[in-house]
Amino acid sequence: MGRRTRMRSVKSPPDNFYFHSRSDEPLLDNNIEITVAEFEAMRLKHYLGMTQKICAEKMGLSQPTFSRILKNAHKKITEAIIEGKEIRVQGGNVDYKEIYNGYGCLVCFEEWEDELASTERKVTCPKCESDKTYHLIREPL
Ligand SMILES: [Zn+2]
Repeated sequence: MGRRTRMRSVKSPPDNFYFHSRSDEPLLDNNIEITVAEFEAMRLKHYLGMTQKICAEKMGLSQPTFSRILKNAHKKITEAIIEGKEIRVQGGNVDYKEIYNGYGCLVCFEEWEDELASTERKVTCPKCESDKTYHLIREPL
């Protein structure tokens, strides 16, 4: 997995919100892990204020799938706020300032980077071998 081109820098996230790379120490019980897809769904919908239709298109998802991912994210964030947990975004090499291009699996929720990933190029999940995968791309702000 190569390093990506550095994009323009963005405002620092709050202290209790940071990315967790797989090589880091294991997740503490007290933390909540959100997926790259959940993070991106919230960013597009609530931070950038895009319509659900545009959000789903940008992520290469159907609207029902986008809606489900967003709902999962809300549930986790709510739990974190109510129970005072830390929020981490799972996934390798994900950074606020970097582009993430890869796939996600609708069956086991695995997410992985793939520089050649696109909506046209279908792949199977490396973890559960399902072909219910989707293109996952997040662009810097
Ligand atoms: Zn899978």
